Amino acid sequence: MKSDIEIAQAAALKPILQVSSKLDLNSDDLIPYGQYIAKLSAACIQKLQTQADGQLILVTAISPTPAGEGKTTTTIGLADALNQVLADKNQHAMVCMREPSLGPVFGLKGGATGGGYSQVVPMEDINLHFTGDFHAISSANNLLAALIDNHIYQGNALDINPASITWRRCMDMNDRALRDITLNSRNKAGSFFDRQTGFDITVASEVMAIFCLATSLSDLQTRLGNIQIGLTSANKPVLASDLQAEGAMTALLKNAFQPNVVQTLEHTAALVHGGPFANIAHGCNSVAATKAALKLADFVVTEAGFGADLGAEKFIDIKCRKTGLQPAAVVLVATVRALKYHGGVDITSLNQENLTALKSGTANLKKHIENLQQHFGLKVVVAINHFLSDTEAEIALLSTVAASFGVKAIVCKHWANGGAGAIDLAHEVIRMTEQPTKSFKLLYPDEMPLLEKIETIAQKIYGASHVELSLEAQTALAKLEKNYSHYPVCIAKTQYSFSSDPTLRGAPTAHVLKVRQLRLSRGAEFIVAICGDIMTMPGLPKQPVSERIGVNQAGSIVGLN
Ligand code: ADP
Ligand code: MG
Repeated sequence: MKSDIEIAQAAALKPILQVSSKLDLNSDDLIPYGQYIAKLSAACIQKLQTQADGQLILVTAISPTPAGEGKTTTTIGLADALNQVLADKNQHAMVCMREPSLGPVFGLKGGATGGGYSQVVPMEDINLHFTGDFHAISSANNLLAALIDNHIYQGNALDINPASITWRRCMDMNDRALRDITLNSRNKAGSFFDRQTGFDITVASEVMAIFCLATSLSDLQTRLGNIQIGLTSANKPVLASDLQAEGAMTALLKNAFQPNVVQTLEHTAALVHGGPFANIAHGCNSVAATKAALKLADFVVTEAGFGADLGAEKFIDIKCRKTGLQPAAVVLVATVRALKYHGGVDITSLNQENLTALKSGTANLKKHIENLQQHFGLKVVVAINHFLSDTEAEIALLSTVAASFGVKAIVCKHWANGGAGAIDLAHEVIRMTEQPTKSFKLLYPDEMPLLEKIETIAQKIYGASHVELSLEAQTALAKLEKNYSHYPVCIAKTQYSFSSDPTLRGAPTAHVLKVRQLRLSRGAEFIVAICGDIMTMPGLPKQPVSERIGVNQAGSIVGLN
């Protein structure tokens, strides 16, 4: 089997205009970035408003193993399969997914454009600089940081208390050395002061969250202005609008805000736009892209990052809550390998048959299914993403166990065969969407107090016994409950476990969710609860993927996967 990049580089791409013409888009609707990448023009998005919405299909997964278990690959494979099935009905499916971050591209996991014969292309461009959206987001974030320090330097007319500044700088790289930094600042009068701050990875930044939740450029500007950067000496909030920052930040983001159009290996159109991580941020592509896709296609297949405890919960409780979006069906990706891992198998032994471990690992699958059905009222199908190492006995066992949980489990071979490998899944998804979901619900109402929201997520979704707040989090909570109690909560925790401890696999119960810090994202309109050891600036592993990446004699990128 060829590597992901070898398959992607061997593909014959179609001009993006030709790919988009199936969705009734013409050259006026697209802003080309070369032949194979374009942005949807603002005028086009405006024009689409009168169209009816298609069906939204959410792809999520069991708790992942460190390798990633194929949500993006399945999202793409399913959209390609739907297009094969829908071909003679004159209906269309498209993909809507996040842009990759350079953190994982060079870190542990590699690229995020799918894998095998279910990929979006041109994969090197999408995985590296793409259309510069992350650069724009980092720049907008860092402009605000520069404006804050400049304001203090220039005399601090707003009387900002430097020790209260919560706004951090960001970059799209796993760079642990920048987690905590000391700024040696000086004001114009010449007095020096030190200020503790640090960098977050761009995908964890509030600007990224705002970018992905904003419904229009003017909403983007309003939300950017609403960002709280710190307090005055009299403890009054200081907003980005107090520094008149939001106009210039919006100017930096104006082009980036338009969704990017690319294609799958089978020429299905894909909107790839925005990219908050699901462990430390809210985990799904931009609202702008999802809404545009629903106008363009009959079926939109979208991915929420990491396991359903993180990505799907935030997709529903943050993105759907804010926008009224509603998934018509959920595809829960499971792999034999990951379930064996949840059953206690070491990461190096996942390719060996182990029915006992597989059976015990299905506890993780069961809990995710229950959460989606009971707490969100959604229709669920399990996609068994087939790996070549899976044995027939393992697949048979997994199908039987899934059936005993009351859901269909469908073996999918799109990684090896493209859309043709996910035809059964496509048929099932179409069948599931024939009747509207009447039982869809959010996990908690807006008016529930913040602590109760955290407890509800912890107990109902994670299976925790209770929540413990650090002293710092307790102090923050008391202040936040006063003005922001109506905001949803974005939990930042490890993706590897239902708990905040990455070593607790399967479906642990009676664990304690330890909240270290609470951060106000006033522009994004949610509260981030940072749990366990999760870092908003990740580090690189001992042997980063970057060691394998290079450019060959022919000028092609190699080693990216
Ligand atoms: P996720 O979105 O869940 O993080 P991805 O779809 O990005 O996962 O896949 C992660 C990696 O696993 C990719 O390199 C992809 O090629 C590989 N992969 C996905 N599905 C399969 C499969 N069925 N067999 C082998 N490798 C796979
Ligand atoms: Mg993914």
